[in-house]
Amino acid sequence: MSRAFNFSAGPAALPEEVLLQIREDLPEYKGCGSSIMEVSHRGKVYGAVHEEAIANVRKLLNLPEEYAVLLLQGGATGQFAMIPWNFLGDGQTADYVNSGAWATKAIQEAQPIGTVNVAADIAKDIPTRMPRVSDLKLTPNAAYFHITSNETIAGSQWQIFPESKAPLVADMSSDILSRTIDVKQFALIYAGAQKNLGPSGVTLVIVRRDWAAKPVRKLPGMYAYATQIKENSLFNTPPCFGIYVLVLVTRWLIQQGGVEAIQKRNQQKAAKLYAAIDASGFYKPTAEKAYRSQMNVTFRLPSEELEEKFIQEAAARKLLELKGHRSVGGVRASIYNAMPEAGVDALIAFMSDFQRVAQGNPGKCCSSG
Ligand SMILES: *Cc1c(COP(=O)(O)O)cnc(C)c1O
Repeated sequence: MSRAFNFSAGPAALPEEVLLQIREDLPEYKGCGSSIMEVSHRGKVYGAVHEEAIANVRKLLNLPEEYAVLLLQGGATGQFAMIPWNFLGDGQTADYVNSGAWATKAIQEAQPIGTVNVAADIAKDIPTRMPRVSDLKLTPNAAYFHITSNETIAGSQWQIFPESKAPLVADMSSDILSRTIDVKQFALIYAGAQKNLGPSGVTLVIVRRDWAAKPVRKLPGMYAYATQIKENSLFNTPPCFGIYVLVLVTRWLIQQGGVEAIQKRNQQKAAKLYAAIDASGFYKPTAEKAYRSQMNVTFRLPSEELEEKFIQEAAARKLLELKGHRSVGGVRASIYNAMPEAGVDALIAFMSDFQRVAQGNPGKCCSSG
């Protein structure tokens, strides 16, 4: 077996231990006579998986009782709508920071439902960044305040979350469980699973129970947080297999020492990669230093031709999916929890070799092959 280092932004690499465990659990799960995909979602076998998923998330985030954990469908994109449906009533305004492509989508999806105030618009700023406190034009008595903790495409990340009188809502799709957070700052946190939690198809929502209990309008059960809480995310058939994989990923994370331990590793990985970029005089980082993402490291080369060549040659060295998002170009190395430090080291070695050749000094090249 020879797995490549996969820098995909999402769906992203899973820990190898998790994939091996999945293989072991197929075609028969724990002697139950069938796989976990083929049993009732209301039965004992799946029930234990469902409860462990919730328990592991609670443990990893050290979640107080006043927050509910939901395992929903529809991705982060579904939450772009579900949040205003539940919390943005007629005559109210919700504040949104437009920090990049994902925040833009969140805003676009809320606008058909209610009034949105864009509290800061830095989506098009180069270098990419997050807003400074002085940039924010907040609405008094806003229904809520929405931020995107990590802009997956721009490669920018909030380092200190803004203070907010309104309930703070965060799209943490691409940095959930990558660093410690003070959950109590937030009324609602959501994340599509396919970056840091498991496969696509599961959406994690953490919401304050008292807030969820007060939706601003009547909604179908599927889209009402209160109903989903009451039904323990079993209002309909949940994405059972994805939730099972989420259990394996969260178990793996607990074995790694939890969020604090993985945060240290993530900091180390990102620091190394940014240091190599900064020292190169060749690779140009895309994000402002104070807002650099520890998950999605974005940079440019001197020309688009070189970028193309870089991505191709990297793939030939088993460094996959380094192409920046189609909307912005450039190079993006996504180094989520599951990316081992060895993957970052291999990328740095390749970058150094590539630079030498591009600058016409191939003679000294030593580690390519
Ligand atoms: C990937 C991503 C999304 C979209 O998630 P889906 O599950 O495809 O809906 C939204 N927000 C952020 C920050 C993302 O990284």
